[in-house]
Parts: sequence; C-alpha cells; structure tokens
Amino acid sequence: MAPAPTKTHCPYCSLQCGITLDASGGSSEKPILEPQRDFPTNRGGLCAKGWTAAELLGHPERLTGPLVRDERGSPLRPATWNEALERVVAAFQRAQADHGRDAVGCFGGGGLTNEKAYQFGKFARVALRTSAIDYNGRFCMSSAAAATNRSFGIDRGLPFPLSDIARADVILLVGSNPAETLPPAMQYFDEGRARGARHIVVDPRRTPTAARADLHLQPVPGTDLALANGMLNIIAREGLIDEKYVADRTAGFEAVRRAVRLYWPDRVERITGVPERDIVAAARLLAQADRAMILTARGAEQHSAGTDTAQAFINLALALGLPGRPYSGFATITGQGNGQGGREHGQKSDQLPGYRKLDDTEARAHVARVWGVNPADLPQPGRSAYEMLSAMGTSGGVRALWVVASNIVVSAPNALHVAERLGALDFLVVSDIFLSETAELADVVLPTTQWAEESGTMTNLEGRVILRRAALAAPREVRSDLDVMADLAKRLGVQGFSAEPQEVFEELTRASQGGKADYRGISYQRIEDNQGVFWPCPSPLYPDTPRLFTEDFPTPDRRAHFHPVEHRGTPELPDDEFPYYLTTGRVMRQYQSGTQTRRVPQLAEGEPEPVAELHPTLAQSVGVASGDKVRLRTRRGETVMTARTDSGIRPDTVFAPFHWGGAGNINRLTNPELDPYSRMPSFKVCAVSVSRADTAQPREGDSNG
Ligand code: SF4
Repeated sequence: MAPAPTKTHCPYCSLQCGITLDASGGSSEKPILEPQRDFPTNRGGLCAKGWTAAELLGHPERLTGPLVRDERGSPLRPATWNEALERVVAAFQRAQADHGRDAVGCFGGGGLTNEKAYQFGKFARVALRTSAIDYNGRFCMSSAAAATNRSFGIDRGLPFPLSDIARADVILLVGSNPAETLPPAMQYFDEGRARGARHIVVDPRRTPTAARADLHLQPVPGTDLALANGMLNIIAREGLIDEKYVADRTAGFEAVRRAVRLYWPDRVERITGVPERDIVAAARLLAQADRAMILTARGAEQHSAGTDTAQAFINLALALGLPGRPYSGFATITGQGNGQGGREHGQKSDQLPGYRKLDDTEARAHVARVWGVNPADLPQPGRSAYEMLSAMGTSGGVRALWVVASNIVVSAPNALHVAERLGALDFLVVSDIFLSETAELADVVLPTTQWAEESGTMTNLEGRVILRRAALAAPREVRSDLDVMADLAKRLGVQGFSAEPQEVFEELTRASQGGKADYRGISYQRIEDNQGVFWPCPSPLYPDTPRLFTEDFPTPDRRAHFHPVEHRGTPELPDDEFPYYLTTGRVMRQYQSGTQTRRVPQLAEGEPEPVAELHPTLAQSVGVASGDKVRLRTRRGETVMTARTDSGIRPDTVFAPFHWGGAGNINRLTNPELDPYSRMPSFKVCAVSVSRADTAQPREGDSNG
C-alpha cells in the first residue's frame, strides 16, 4: 500500500496554508501537492504560490553542495562540508581575535522555523557570545510589535482566530491588501460581506481589496496616523466613546482625548487628502457596529513613524472598546511565513526566547539556566538590522557575517549602500537553498534543507503553532540549518546544540516558560492532535489561548494602555527635484525578495519583471504611457521599470514592487530613516522623481548616493 500523503504547510506567507504532499512517486517524480480541505485557516484554499510550491523541490538551480571562493573576485567553487565549515570557523575566530566578540554578526529570517530562530539566537549568544544578531523581520513587523507590546503587553498578530473575521460587522483595514497577499483569507472577508458586513479600506492604491470595500480612503502615503486621530476626534465629539470600557479596562485615555482635539476633520483632510465626509462616514460606521475590527499591516507600519501609527489605530480600537469583545478587536496581519514565531524566540537584537528582553535580569537568569551558562556571559542588546548592516566593515562594526535565509541585498532599504557595506566585510557566509543575490557575494555558501525536506514548527499569523513535516529526503550534500549550527558550535568548542528539531523545540519550550510567548505546554504531538496550538500555552494540562484579552491584558496593572501620538510628517516630502511619493509593496505571484518565486516558471511568467504603477494624469504629465520605460530616482538611487497606468492610484504617488534584485531592485531607492522605537525603516514612503526613460537601464552599481 502506498504511504499516505504528508500533511504539512505552504513554504511562503504567514497564513501557512495546510497542504498535503504525496512523494510516493519517488525522487524522479515531482510530489503531488493538494490543499488540506479541513485545515482551519485556508479550508482548502491556496493561492498561485501555494499551488506551485512543489516546483521548488528538485529545482535545477537548487544549491546541492557547499561553495567557497578562494579569494575576493575569484568564482565560487564546490567544496566539502569540512572545508567550508573550517573556513567559517577560521574567519569567525580571526574576526573576534582582531576586533572583539561583536565583530561577528548573525542575520536571520522570518521564514526560519521556531527551532532554527531559537537556536540561531542561542548560537550568537552562547557559541559566539556576540551581541550582533538581528533579522529581516525587523523590516516587517517590528512597528506593530512595538505598539502592541506597549499597549496590550503582548505582541500576537491576530489575538483571535482568522475565522472571526467572518463574524465582524465592520472592518477597517489599513495598509493591507489580503486579496493579493493572502488570497485564501478572503473567504472570511467575503463571508462577512455576504451577511451584510461593511468593510473600509485605507490605501493610497485601489487594490483588489479596496475594490471590494464599501468605502475606500486614499490618504497621502505616511499620513495614516493623522487619519486615525481624526476618526477618534469625531468619535469623541459625537459621544461614541465606550466610556465604561475605557474606565474599567484601560489607562491613559485623557491624554489621548486631549491630543486628538486638534485633529478636526477639515484639518485631517488637508493632511491626508481624504475628504472630510469620508472620514466622518468611516468613523461613524466603525463606532456604531456591535462587532468591529481594525486590522493594520505593512502599509501603516513600514514608516519612520510606524509604531506611533499602529498606536493611533490601537487608541481608536480601545476608545471603541473593541479588544477582547467577541468578534472585535485590533489586530495586525503578519507577512512572512514565520513572521510571528520568528520574532518570539531570540533572533532579534534585544530579545531572548519567550519574547523576553535581553536587558531584563530575571530573563537573563532564566534563559542562562536553560542554556547552562553564566548570565553574566550573555551579551547585552546589539544594533538593529539596518544599523548593523550599515556599520559593516567599519571600526566597531561587524567584520564577519553569517546570513541565514535572508536576501538582504534585495530586501534591505538603501540597498546599494548595504551591498557596498557587504563588500567591506572581511568574510561573508550565506546559508540558503538558492544562490540568492546575497549568496552571490559570499565567501562561503552553505546549502540548506527546504520546507518539504525538514520538520519544525512555525507560528502563523493567528499565533497558532503548527507543524511542518518532512515529506521527502534532501539532496545528499544538503544539511539542515540546525545541523550546521550544531556542527559549527562544536568546531568552536561549545556543546549543547542539537540537530534534532524535536529536541530543540523541547528546549525552546523550557526557555520560553514564564515568558510572554510561553510555549511550555506545546509539543509536536499536541500540535498534531489539534491542528495547531495557540500560544500562550504554559502547561500541557491547560487549554491553549485562541482569543486574548477576554478578561484582562497582560500588563502589570492588567489594563490596556493608551498613548497619545502626533502626526509629524514623513522624513522626505516631495520638492522640486523629487516631486512625487514612492511607495512599495507586493504583487500576488511573488514573495519577499523573490529568491524562490522568481524561479517558479508559472509565477515568473505571470509577473516576470517589476512594473511601476502610476496614475494616468501623472503619466501624461511626464510623457509616459503604459508599457513605456519609466525612470524612478530618489536621493539614494535610480531604476528603470516598465510603466503601467492605473486610475486607482493617487495621482501624486508611484507604486513599485520589491521582489526583484539587480537594477530592478526598488530598495535601491527606499529611505533607511528609522522609527525611534521599532527601528523600522521608512520603506513605504520617500520622495521620487519620475521621467520617461529613453536611455537604457542604469548599470549595476549606478547610484546617486
Ligand atoms: Fe502559501 Fe500564503 Fe498562498 Fe497560503 S496564502 S498558499 S500560505 S503563499
């Protein structure tokens, strides 16, 4: 009898759709991929990326053995694992001997399993004893995380199951486009609308999500905070505040009430460009609903005021008494596959497992006990992602870097500068499944297992911990990241690192015990038995926690906290030289830096190149038509893309996707100005000039700055 297909999950986004893989045809046949009809998030749905994920398995460009470079400028050549790892160890030891412990850096990814993210953080703090570790999730969720932590005392993207969306009467979606980024999730929005729910979308573009909404507000990029304060102003003046909830369950409202007094709708219209009548209509719709949700995503958060913007919408939700009310609340929609779990277990520069803080004495003592080290030997918090990358190769900066599953040359802001700093390193080692643009620059490349070849847990956008199961064997010379971490630690003379996912997970649960993200009651078996387990789950004897805040908030006073926030404008306003706004985002058939999806023929055919979207009025004013080449230029760099006109975008704004490397990499243009709390770069807005490109694509390395 043929073995049953393996139940596992899509390798891409935070929805982590349940799929089955049937690899019974043997290594010569591509596994058959089907959606799991009964998995509670996707309920049988998949998007184009999920349906074609098996194309990544057995891909001709797959890295199948280690590569090394004999000297800078020479080509990468095949090597044994022993040679590759000895080079890594020698380079790390040399950098630390010459420049101190923090001269070796680690850069992780939001797609790593919980086990890998956890062990990578431990590797940095215990095997290398460096403070220099951060990850690409800093560029994704950090602003929402900072805001929810300070208001609710916890950061779990959705504090309720995804299916609750179908039961809400009114939903305000801010800077989120699930119709393209999470298509199977739209079944819940559609179900809600079918029973009469009203949806409001805030986005400078008329996305497919906005096109389905009852009300579409199109603010100037970077002005969402003023919009939220304006809505709260209306709600306060019209007596629509839930005063009992505010009195019983929150703290700090009076300062917010005072702060929003100045956000009169006509003033907010001048700041945001959203007509006053629409602001009023949106505020009333939201306030008068029995069950209402406010959902934010990267459009609101990837700004230098991203934390305060998320906070402004939290203030609005709290004033309406939404968090903890049935089928209501504030939530933020996670992007990367393990964006949630990846930010809980210690690959962030200031963090220890269980969402503990590295500068907390008790947290250090607890985790040091689990790791069998002296708390005093754990490093203090290090630099955030962009700060670490921009200081590479400088005095006091990282001199040798290990990048695991992250393509920073494409995904970091001000990408030309980041590429230049990578060139200033003494040594770069990259672990990946394909030769990404970042791996191409490495001195050593380590090939690692991919999703269907490994087991491990992921935590989806709901905070549901799920199990990725191995369905087929990896190529012979490919090793798992856990195995490589354990081997490198041993070569560095440090014990206590396992290559076995289940063993690492068990240790992770002990390290997380008592922390905000407490996984102690979760096991592989419990996940299998229940189609996932929601954290916090402190004991095998207790139920898990699908819904948060029903009774109180995990803050010291058990109340949610308001914080007054002010609109302060974007760091770069349009001027004579750069007269428009540039905003960036995703398209349906690509994922993140495109390392995987650009290699899937069916996806690449649908979206083969980056396309700049601009309003016909703007296009006409610069002499560009759909299909023409358009030059986009900012203070940091320029690119040439094919133009597509679309009357659904604001006439002062250009949109470009961020999934491509090389000369089409829009992150060469983006602004690295950081949020003061989350250290999130200002990906979503900068000033740009737009012109018809009669000349060729700029050469590799061309830059203004
Ligand atoms: Fe995969 Fe996300 Fe698409 Fe689901 S929505 S199939 S998890 S990419």
